[in-house]
Amino acid sequence: MEVTVIPFGSAFIVGALPSGLYAALYLKSRGIRVFVSESKEICADVRLSTSASMLNKAGIPCEFGRNSETTMIEYDVVVVSPGVPPNAPILGAARKAGKAVIGETEIASYAGLSILGVTGSNGKSTTTAILGKIISRAFPQAVTGGNLGIPVSQLLVEHPQADVAVLEVSCFQLETIRAFHPHVGVFTNVVPNHLDRYGTMEAYVQTKVRLFENMKPDDYAVLNRDDPVLREVGSRLSPAVYYFGLVPGAYRGVHVTGDFVLYTDGHTTERLFCRSDIRIPGQHNLVNAMSAALAAYLYGVMPTDIQTALREFEGLSHRLECVGSWRNIVFVNDSKATTPESVMTASAAMSGPYVVILGGSSKGISFDHMAWYLAHDTNLVAAVVLGTTGPTIAGSIRSSGRTPVVYAESLEDAVMKGIQLLPSGGTLLLSPACASFDMFRDFEERGDRFKEIVHTLMHRPTA
Ligand code: ADP
Repeated sequence: MEVTVIPFGSAFIVGALPSGLYAALYLKSRGIRVFVSESKEICADVRLSTSASMLNKAGIPCEFGRNSETTMIEYDVVVVSPGVPPNAPILGAARKAGKAVIGETEIASYAGLSILGVTGSNGKSTTTAILGKIISRAFPQAVTGGNLGIPVSQLLVEHPQADVAVLEVSCFQLETIRAFHPHVGVFTNVVPNHLDRYGTMEAYVQTKVRLFENMKPDDYAVLNRDDPVLREVGSRLSPAVYYFGLVPGAYRGVHVTGDFVLYTDGHTTERLFCRSDIRIPGQHNLVNAMSAALAAYLYGVMPTDIQTALREFEGLSHRLECVGSWRNIVFVNDSKATTPESVMTASAAMSGPYVVILGGSSKGISFDHMAWYLAHDTNLVAAVVLGTTGPTIAGSIRSSGRTPVVYAESLEDAVMKGIQLLPSGGTLLLSPACASFDMFRDFEERGDRFKEIVHTLMHRPTA
């Protein structure tokens, strides 16, 4: 693909963490005059001092601890990193001054990349990672990232030969696209989310649908057929629409038939993979593999490459990640499960007795439905609760049924109590249903701590 002419000569970049830093480096390499503006002081985050020295080395002017409007006015456009709040005063000032505010994701549009984009409420990261793995088998110069891990501008700086990009795109990133144009767009599913930001479900869905707004009839939309909202979305898109789903139906796309996942379009039927090719647990991951396989197949990847990539994919950290086993107990880290819904998804993937560790900081969501669901799960032996939400979760579980609930003082304590409650052959599942900020920096630190605790146990001499 041809590299596109960048439609501006200078850019004021807001944010100096990797998205902003690499946006500046990439745009500068393309001859754009850039300035980086970071509202935090350098000392606020160790990564900012790295950014400052990289910017200095590249000769890029920058400021820390403020966003100067007078400097911003001198640039053609404002490029905003995904972490910058939408109500940041500098963005309001930019709009008032008539400047275009574009997201860092938009930079993918200038690089001549062929793009496969993934959005949705749940499963974006897993689907992006599977799709990236499949695409890289067939296209060795392909890169994977976006909202998942590495920002697109960093991919461009570090892999100048990249020709294909598999990108996870969040709704926040879709708010600021203009020319962003995937050849294949995947929409995994929709559940109410970020309503504090969007006000209504319609506004939230409309933002996600922007993934398809620049797509043409020779592009492909890959949508979840089991989701009524997405069936309706599919009826009004310009690209060719294909579906994936578990519920049988007559549509073009992928279906499950017995052990096989088949592609059909009225003319062709092809076996894309078999259930046993997938190593990650749960029906939801079968669905994630189906959507990734369909997107890859439409992009031109052979089923044999799809199958090999699926067999190699071990899953992402902190999502039903098997950490190991000790004294015939399996430990599963699902720290990314920060909502009650994710806990229900995890519990559906448990095939034998398990204890779940729940609790953390509140997101203001009720636990009652989850508690009712868990009370009917015959595999669940007990719940161990901790953190700020521990008492509320314990209350919901107790009023829903007879599942034993035990309090823990810390994650270490929760692991030890969970082990004591489990029969041999059971699973101890960390799937908190809550954010982690009461005890940890983020869900990753919480999951890493869980893994450390388990690894310490595993390396203890057995008495
Ligand atoms: P995202 O990037 O959209 O947050 P992840 O792939 O990181 O999604 O998965 C996060 C959580 O979402 C998982 O731990 C699981 O509970 C849930 N999840 C993943 N895939 C699906 C799916 N296809 N449908 C419903 N829930 C899912």
